[in-house]
Amino acid sequence: MTTYDWIVVGGGVAGSALAYELVKLGSSVLLLEQFAAPKNGTRYSYGGIAYWSGNTPLAQQLCQEGIEIHRQLSDELEGDTQFRELDLVLVIEPGEDVGAIAQSYRSCWIPPQPISVEFACELEPLLNPAALGGALHTTHGHVSPEATTLAYQQAFRRLGGEMRLAQVTGFVREGDRTTGITTPTGTLSATGVIVSAGGWSRILLRQAGLSVRIYFSQAELIETPPNTPTQTHTLIMPAALKRFEQEAAAGAADARWNQPNQEVVPPILDEGVIQFKDGRIRIGQVTRMISSLEPEVDAAASESALRQAVGRFLPSLKEVPGTWSRCPVAFSGDRLPLVGPVPGAEGMHLFSGFSNPFAIMPPLARRYARHLVEQPDPLLEGLSPGRFGT
Ligand SMILES: Cc1cc2nc3c(=O)[nH]c(=O)nc-3n(C[C@H](O)[C@H](O)[C@H](O)COP(=O)(O)OP(=O)(O)OC[C@H]3O[C@@H](n4cnc5c(N)ncnc54)[C@H](O)[C@@H]3O)c2cc1C
Repeated sequence: MTTYDWIVVGGGVAGSALAYELVKLGSSVLLLEQFAAPKNGTRYSYGGIAYWSGNTPLAQQLCQEGIEIHRQLSDELEGDTQFRELDLVLVIEPGEDVGAIAQSYRSCWIPPQPISVEFACELEPLLNPAALGGALHTTHGHVSPEATTLAYQQAFRRLGGEMRLAQVTGFVREGDRTTGITTPTGTLSATGVIVSAGGWSRILLRQAGLSVRIYFSQAELIETPPNTPTQTHTLIMPAALKRFEQEAAAGAADARWNQPNQEVVPPILDEGVIQFKDGRIRIGQVTRMISSLEPEVDAAASESALRQAVGRFLPSLKEVPGTWSRCPVAFSGDRLPLVGPVPGAEGMHLFSGFSNPFAIMPPLARRYARHLVEQPDPLLEGLSPGRFGT
């Protein structure tokens, strides 16, 4: 039986990028994905590259490296990621304190600047000025998440990497050492196993008796068909995003994640809109924190709440034809991903918890591959899954 250097579990953008970086360094790599058409965090992502947002020396370094990689990634992978830079308009509601909200961004690498409502509406003519108390503006990067993932996978295969459609059902372990994975049709061996299973990572690890502080939300959104005639010109998000506070609160409630079907913290809605080059518009997002991967949700109520909320800022999108969907998204309690060895499981690694990956994931995939194959990278110490304890 072949023993691969690495088996990477999960063919979202994170697993695909890491598999590519490993094979580029000469490793033999098997990338396993459970679904032919995954409904994962990558599939439904806006693909925004918030490189301006790094607010610690670590995040700023990764954001700088990230945007440099994105600017040349299509050439490197020989596949179009649909990279572009576009205007990001962060909307502020009437009555909200524009100055205080602008100040909350002051530690960012490139803080978004306050702009007038008139200028916001020039940048995005679909905006309803009456719904705005102000706005912030900066330049954002953007890719197609699916095209980027496909480009990574194609480059991975071109370099000799192997990708298979198979669900990983467990791990082969000899004592504390991981020597492979199991699938419904057999076992596969590797010197190291890397779990990059997005929102599925927590449950996969727990089924193997491993406790890591990685969690998952359910993101709910509406997607319009290709060639939607309504045209947006910018990426629109709320300036006062609720999601990161919600993630911190959910991470602090660790014990609740081990109880079945618990609402860990209440849902939130952050209105966001992005149109892709093929005309599809993604309109999001409700974020729900429930300790089940398949929670029962009132889809009609969620869709109606999304349409109401986005329709205030962008009335022409209130009734736009589109399909409601949801997907799990992994996150940690401190906004940073989990990159490193899984405590108590020699030979098993985690590359997940990317709730906002496009700015920092490409450099982390590159650095982590070098760390595993060539030499240790001290920058990765702060991202270790062991940083929270167990
Ligand atoms: C509406 C929305 C908007 C977003 N907007 C942005 C944004 O603007 N910018 C940004 O940076 N991020 C954004 N994100 C977040 C982000 O893009 C995703 O969370 C990210 O792409 C996750 O990538 P991933 O590879 O870690 O996980 P995923 O894409 O979820 O991939 C994990 C894969 O692992 C597979 N898998 C799981 N278990 C197994 C198993 N047992 N065996 C085999 N395969 C398995 C799954 O099928 C899945 O395909 C957004 C997310 C959503 C939902």
